[in-house]
Amino acid sequence: MRRILTSTLIALAAVSVVLFVLAPARPARVSMEGWDALAARTVAGAYHVHTTRSDGNGDKAAVAAAAARAGLTFVILTDHGDATRPPDPPEYVQGVLMLDAVEISTDEGHYVAIDMPRAPYPLGGAGDAVVEDVHRLGGFGIAAHPDSPKAALRWSDTSAPIDGIEWINADSEWRDESRRRLGRAGLTYFFRPAGSLATLLDRPSTLDRWDALLRTRGVVALAAADAHGGPGRRVEDQNRTFFSTIGIPSYEASFRELSVRAVLEQRLSGKAAEDARAIYTAIRRGNVFSVIDALAWPALLDLHAVPSGATVTLLARAPLPSGGQLVLIGPAGEVARGAGELKFEVPRETDYAYRIEGRLPAAPGDPPVPWLVSNPFSPGSRTVSPPGIEVPAATRPAAAIAPFPWRIEKDPASRAILRTSATSVELEFGLAEGPRNSQFVALATDLRGQTFRSIDLDVLPDRPARIGVQVRTEDGRRWGRSFYVDPAGTPVRADLARLRPVGGAAGNVPPSEALTSILLVVDLTNAVPGRSGRLTIRSSALMK
Ligand SMILES: [Zn+2]
Ligand SMILES: [Zn+2]
Repeated sequence: MRRILTSTLIALAAVSVVLFVLAPARPARVSMEGWDALAARTVAGAYHVHTTRSDGNGDKAAVAAAAARAGLTFVILTDHGDATRPPDPPEYVQGVLMLDAVEISTDEGHYVAIDMPRAPYPLGGAGDAVVEDVHRLGGFGIAAHPDSPKAALRWSDTSAPIDGIEWINADSEWRDESRRRLGRAGLTYFFRPAGSLATLLDRPSTLDRWDALLRTRGVVALAAADAHGGPGRRVEDQNRTFFSTIGIPSYEASFRELSVRAVLEQRLSGKAAEDARAIYTAIRRGNVFSVIDALAWPALLDLHAVPSGATVTLLARAPLPSGGQLVLIGPAGEVARGAGELKFEVPRETDYAYRIEGRLPAAPGDPPVPWLVSNPFSPGSRTVSPPGIEVPAATRPAAAIAPFPWRIEKDPASRAILRTSATSVELEFGLAEGPRNSQFVALATDLRGQTFRSIDLDVLPDRPARIGVQVRTEDGRRWGRSFYVDPAGTPVRADLARLRPVGGAAGNVPPSEALTSILLVVDLTNAVPGRSGRLTIRSSALMK
């Protein structure tokens, strides 16, 4: 008996020693001496966090508690949704400012909208339609996990005018790792949770795509925790059960792995609404940088662009752990490097925005993940402004062919009435209640070999909505695009060349002569079952 006990203890001790040796180092400590003023207005936060409102395992209080333990000042919650739930007002919970945002599923992957009021209809469908809706609603949109190995999640629309991009997403990073690396991180997680998670990081290829975007316009990059509080249930809640403790990674471990820093104009006031505005403003202006806290901690960064004559001096300063270097990235890659302080002169009319990376010699990954990633700071003050919403040309070419007669198409359970007057046609509709079952109501009209390049419509809904404009061939294949329509009246121009395959069709739109129908569709892409309303078409024409 004693021998069994002794050998068990020896075995346990041996395993502990092995795990301890394998475990990653503690984060390097960065000295903040002499940095008080900047430290007072630099606040750490976690961006991209799920709660029990979607697929996370802890509620808001549990997330706030974990964030408080990790030393964070704010958390941006991004539960999955269609943006029709009114966001919770900002509030301090356990000293942590909780901000409520939403992660929207689109045909082109996930898109996070922050600082946005509730949407008047469900946001979804084509990625560029959601980007446009987020802009119209005044939100700030961020392409989520563009590196995700899961195609359905990955943001893939490279041309849409996104405001921000996740340059790294902790939940995507581990998915491409070898079993060996994962196994080791799983073992050492119990010794050093955040450090073990960080061993799974690499330098994401999204940084290259971001640089390509920066050559054309401003896009803010953020590190995303994508924290769910582990796959176990109720991981962070007070009533811990044995099973709940196996939830990996916990919110706290995620928050200690990586985070963002908002650099504010002044220190926070303690008033939730005011402080939320300050943090959102910093993010919108790109006054925010990302840190892999599990490698070194804490972090500060001071960036200035000082004009003098025909040149601008870019100044970057940061306290660094030993061996750390600041690297200045320009339009053609690295342009300068140094420890602690960097100075670089660029011509004043440079349009490109430069950015900083902080790199550490022992960073994990192949290639190694940067420890710190700033947003662009530029000679000209290039801030991110939402690109204008596309509006069809006001003048109408004289090639209008027809106001065409409309009829109704719908699923059997939904209802629709069509009223035609001398000057307009009105659709009164009600999508069937109950479970989602491909409910739709459409106005349809037939084509007979007409030659045209676009369909022009003047549409008047009874409330803000998004409708699909589609074309169909004899064999039932469809192409379309959705358009925002407003009760104030909305001119819609659907260019055939810009329509995309719908429901199983593929490739480009066939020549207009081969099209047999036009459809104006209200369906579950941007409406819920049971939705009823009216849609008036004041004019319709085919344009050559
Ligand atoms: Zn996602
Ligand atoms: Zn997510």
